[in-house]
Amino acid sequence: MSRLPRLRSSPDPSDPPVPFIATTLGFSMSTSGYKRKAEDDLDTEALDQPRKLPAIGNGATARPLAASRSALNRPTTTTGPAAKQPSGPQRLTRPEPPKLSTSAPRRTTRATSAPPKQVGVSSGLIRPFGRVVSASRVASGSGLQTKEFRDLQSQVASIESTQLANAEKLAQTMDAERAKVAELEANHRALSLELANAKSLELDKRRELVSASDEIQKLRMKHAKEIMGLEMEMKSKAREARELADELRLAKSDLERERNDVSNLKATLSHQSTSHITLNAQINALQAQKAAMQMQLDALMTTSSDRTLELETAHRRILDLEQDARESEMVRRKLHNMVQELKGNIRVFCRVRPVLTSDLSPTCSFTSNPPDNEEKGREADITFPDKRDHKEIVVSSSSSSAMGSERKEVYNFGFDRVFEPESTQTEVFEEISFLAQSCVDGYNVCIFAYGQTGSGKSFTMEGGLTEATTGMIPRAVNQVFKAADDLKSKGWEYKMDGQFLEIYNETINDLLGKGEFDKKKHEIKHDKSGTRVTDVNVMPLPSPASVTSLLRVANSRRTVAATLMNERSSRSHSVFTLRISGTNTHTGESCEGSLNLVDLAGSERLNSSGAAGDKDRLKETQNINKSLSALGDVIAALGEKGEKGEKHIPYRNSKLTYLLQNSLSGNSKTLMILNLSPLAAHLNESLCSLRFATKVNNTMIGTAKKQIRGSS
Ligand code: ADP
Ligand code: MG
Repeated sequence: MSRLPRLRSSPDPSDPPVPFIATTLGFSMSTSGYKRKAEDDLDTEALDQPRKLPAIGNGATARPLAASRSALNRPTTTTGPAAKQPSGPQRLTRPEPPKLSTSAPRRTTRATSAPPKQVGVSSGLIRPFGRVVSASRVASGSGLQTKEFRDLQSQVASIESTQLANAEKLAQTMDAERAKVAELEANHRALSLELANAKSLELDKRRELVSASDEIQKLRMKHAKEIMGLEMEMKSKAREARELADELRLAKSDLERERNDVSNLKATLSHQSTSHITLNAQINALQAQKAAMQMQLDALMTTSSDRTLELETAHRRILDLEQDARESEMVRRKLHNMVQELKGNIRVFCRVRPVLTSDLSPTCSFTSNPPDNEEKGREADITFPDKRDHKEIVVSSSSSSAMGSERKEVYNFGFDRVFEPESTQTEVFEEISFLAQSCVDGYNVCIFAYGQTGSGKSFTMEGGLTEATTGMIPRAVNQVFKAADDLKSKGWEYKMDGQFLEIYNETINDLLGKGEFDKKKHEIKHDKSGTRVTDVNVMPLPSPASVTSLLRVANSRRTVAATLMNERSSRSHSVFTLRISGTNTHTGESCEGSLNLVDLAGSERLNSSGAAGDKDRLKETQNINKSLSALGDVIAALGEKGEKGEKHIPYRNSKLTYLLQNSLSGNSKTLMILNLSPLAAHLNESLCSLRFATKVNNTMIGTAKKQIRGSS
């Protein structure tokens, strides 16, 4: 490579371009091709003509050639036209022969090495003689123009002489030129020799050049390879650099984040340490507080244990007092019952049912005299002032007088017990459970529910399906079984039977009978052992569960009847009778008791005009009125009897009074539960019922007697 610039700068600008160099620089020819061409040139040109020299000339050969030429030219400057040539580098062109000139002196001497062209010159000289021959032929042919001919001949003679002089001059010139040519040829030979030397030198140089080119080529290839490798390396390095830059960026962002975290953590730490210090201070304060508290606590514990002891003592005292109170209450009740028994009147409980959601419904109506829409759902003004003994009920009614002024009337009633709307079935039963007990002891007990339709008679007597709403019938039966069970230890064994009758339109219907309707005619018979009804089913009741099934059978028959006949259940009296007969295996005593639980027909005054259109309804109404007024008559008669002594009691006026004769006659513990509606719309009915119940309550029917027979 280092030799290349030298080679480039060496050629003479006047020389023709060298194909080898052009090829080398342009890389258009292969190295081997170039070599072959160079060698061929060398082989052929070594023996070539001198005029071909410029074609292979180059800077390396030109200089010595020019130098030698000038050296050669130097001795020739004294002779011949070559001496007139400029002293600069001489062009290596073929010397031209001097032009023929007429004025040149004719030379006779000939160079021995004269070229064949000399023949050409001679032939040119012959041509005028040909023309002379043709002119003489003209003169001889005509012979007419002698003068002209002579002139011509003289002219020809002068021309010929001139020509001869010229030829001589030319011959001289030719000789000189031949000598010059010989000299030039000698020069040429010297130059050829020099050229051969130069060529061999050039050949060496070319070989050197070829090997240098090879080397250059190899170096170039190696270099290109190296460059390529380096470029690839550079690319991979650049990629690596990019990756590293990315990594660096990530690492920087990580670092930044970490720094942030660290600064945050530092802040948190400082905050925490502050909090820690605060907390420590707080802990210390709290510990001090705790110690103080602990001391207080210890003191309090001591006080508390004292208090606990005191409390336990007080608690025991309370329990004792409660026990005393319960016992006192029992004694009070017993005494109360005793007083009642001794008084011999019919006891009356009054129960007001709560307002129902159905009361607010416009379609609902339990009575045959539905209230107008204004009054619907409005509560009557009923109060219960006796909060201790629960014996009073006060009903207030306001009515407009004829003068337009409003008059308020307050009615005060007192009964053995008044139950407010919130009272439960359990509370009601608590008050009558002693009656169930009495019936085991051999008393006749009769509980009947009185009140207008929808006032809660059936709810009170039969109750609902849940345990809390269980009615008086199942509760009383359970109580009887329980009492009988308790008396077992005292030698008493009991047998119980049940019957369930319905009095509808003054006919007795056996609710435990078979078939849809009871077609049998039943008669009521009273004898020493009690009241009996002929042809009715009496179900033995070995357990309280059997009473439940009995009630279910009776209800299903009542439901069938109710669907076939309009609202029959409220237009009939139902009488459940539990007969108890017990014997004491120890004492031989026996006793007979009965429990009659009666759900009376609705006591409301039925609208006669409403019933008038319906024959069945009219009959129902008449029968209900008849039986209820018969009941009233019986009670009134019983009261009168108490005052006056002997008195006929009209038991037979209705099936109901006749059936309940024994329970009403004074030989029975009789309880009437008066059921009341809380609604203002039913206030008048309620007042009627209250008045009737008061009358019943004031009736003295005598003291009930135990029906115990001694062993015979
Ligand atoms: P009656 O037999 O007097 O015609 P019901 O016993 O059929 O009246 O009662 C009418 C409605 O009032 C029934 O839906 C019943 O469940 C309800 N009822 C009656 N008394 C109460 C009460 N003390 N608590 C809750 N609901 C009652
Ligand atoms: Mg009813």
